[in-house]
Amino acid sequence: MRNKPNKIKRLVIKIIDTCQHNCIYCVNNDSISVTGKMSLKMIEDIIKKFLPEEVEFTGGEVALDYEHILSAVRISSKYSKFIMLNTYGIME
Ligand code: SF4
Repeated sequence: MRNKPNKIKRLVIKIIDTCQHNCIYCVNNDSISVTGKMSLKMIEDIIKKFLPEEVEFTGGEVALDYEHILSAVRISSKYSKFIMLNTYGIME
C-alpha cells in the first residue's frame, strides 16, 4: 500500500533573479545580475502539483516586475490560503 505524501505547508518559489541592490550578506549574490524569471505556467504547474498551504515568493527583488508578481499572486491564490512576498520594500 502506498503512503499518502505529506502535505507541504510552505512552498518557496524564487520567481526572479534580478535585484537592484548588492548586499554583502545576500545568498543570491551570484545571480542577482541575471535577468531570468520563472514563467507563470511553471509557477502554476508547481503549485498545482504540491498544493501548499502557503506560497512564498522570493528573488532577487520580487517587485521589480510588478505585473509578473501580481499575476503570480493571482494564480497562487486559487490554490493556497497564504501568499507571502520577500521584498526589500524600497520602491524607487
Ligand atoms: S535580494 Fe535582498 S539581500 Fe539580495 S541583494 Fe537584493 S535586497 Fe540584498
